[in-house]
Amino acid sequence: MNSIKLVVLGSGCVGKSSLTIRYVHNEFIDKYDPTIEDMYRKVVELNGDHFMLEIMDTAGTETFLAMRDLYIRNGQAFMLVYSITSRTSFQELEQVKDQILRVKDVTVAKLPIIVVGNKSDLEPERQVSSQEGENLSSKWGIQFLETSAKTNMNITAAFEHLVAQVQKK
Ligand code: GDP
Ligand code: MG
Repeated sequence: MNSIKLVVLGSGCVGKSSLTIRYVHNEFIDKYDPTIEDMYRKVVELNGDHFMLEIMDTAGTETFLAMRDLYIRNGQAFMLVYSITSRTSFQELEQVKDQILRVKDVTVAKLPIIVVGNKSDLEPERQVSSQEGENLSSKWGIQFLETSAKTNMNITAAFEHLVAQVQKK
């Protein structure tokens, strides 16, 4: 079975762990230690092929910062997460995207990447419109989805989009 190394990146508290745990275990945990950095495995079937998806849920700890280049270097697919309730987290994505391009030394069109605007269930607290998410992603030439780890909206779609991209390349 082929394995796919997927890295979940983004600012703290945007829901990286929640998205990962929702996808892998189908549960929503209200409080998850923000410093935990862990790798999760899930077998995924897509178009008749089976993959061992290895999801690296990163955290903004000091060790992480030193390790981030390494995670990116080893990664094959990238989920760039912000929260629709945090404009700062949206603005910080550009740095992450640039770091991926620098480490991988390729154009974005050659990489399986998706931009994810999480916490879409928190409409009253929204700071970033869907249109802004769309605009930034299309400017970068990257697919975009809004998700909710809480309601399970678009979680499978986001991960499987990346698997499909890896399968194609
Ligand atoms: P991380 O630091 O990026 O890993 O973020 P976490 O997954 O630890 O989530 C941070 C906080 O946001 C936690 O209290 C989660 O319960 C909450 N959270 C994560 N995703 C969602 C979501 O889709 N909707 C809502 N309402 N809360 C979320
Ligand atoms: Mg986390």
